[in-house]
Amino acid sequence: MSFSFRTGSVPILISIPHHGSKIPPEIAAAMTTDGLSSRDTDWFLERLYDLPETQSASLLVAEWSRYVIDLNRPSDNQSLYPGQATTGLVPETCFDGTPIYHTNPPDAVEIERRIQTVWVPYHQQLQDELARLKREHGLAVLIEAHSIASEVPRLFPGRLPDFNIGTNHGQSCEASLQDAIVNVLANQSDFSHVINGRFVGGYITRHYGNPAEQIHSVQIELSQATYLDESTLSWNPVRTTKVQPIFRQIFSAIHDWIATR
Ligand SMILES: [Zn+2]
Repeated sequence: MSFSFRTGSVPILISIPHHGSKIPPEIAAAMTTDGLSSRDTDWFLERLYDLPETQSASLLVAEWSRYVIDLNRPSDNQSLYPGQATTGLVPETCFDGTPIYHTNPPDAVEIERRIQTVWVPYHQQLQDELARLKREHGLAVLIEAHSIASEVPRLFPGRLPDFNIGTNHGQSCEASLQDAIVNVLANQSDFSHVINGRFVGGYITRHYGNPAEQIHSVQIELSQATYLDESTLSWNPVRTTKVQPIFRQIFSAIHDWIATR
């Protein structure tokens, strides 16, 4: 299976499409050492989000690396950020431009095979779960959980704010939900935040968010400086004890928002 899935009891689905770092052997054989490192993975997010306030949420977690196929890109590979550097559906380079393959990159047949075996099953599960939540609860909140290195010169200038909230410029969720999350961030001073800055929400946030249909999606793109030792990509227990309480408050705010519906 290319993902794991848990059914929850509240109308919240947490999706972690870049969690995986696994690469199947037949693909690994074609990759460079950099490709095999899967270093642009959203490391440890399942662990970071393992909190009392998220236990009742549904959870969808990708197992395979974004270097195999990027689940947060449209399957027709249209650019998410026209005119800006970005990476595609089946990326040929790491974020910093280093090649992922030492052979020719995957051809159209291989890309289609990855779409059918990895991309489609994840999106089918996501769609089915949103439909179930809507049917059983009348609404669904989709939290797209991401993290990224604090500095990626090829993709964005300078240093990224700690919390990057993306709602496709307010179109992927009701304003009151965005406000509830942003209020948590505005009422603390340990971490910086921005709303709809460089990251406005990727394909999943934009495609599934439809507030008129009571499906509300929010992307939380977290700077890895808040919870990793970035030089070694390892879990930093001191930092995580500071950032996890913010997530607890964010999910409390989401539960409160749902209760008012
Ligand atoms: Zn991500």
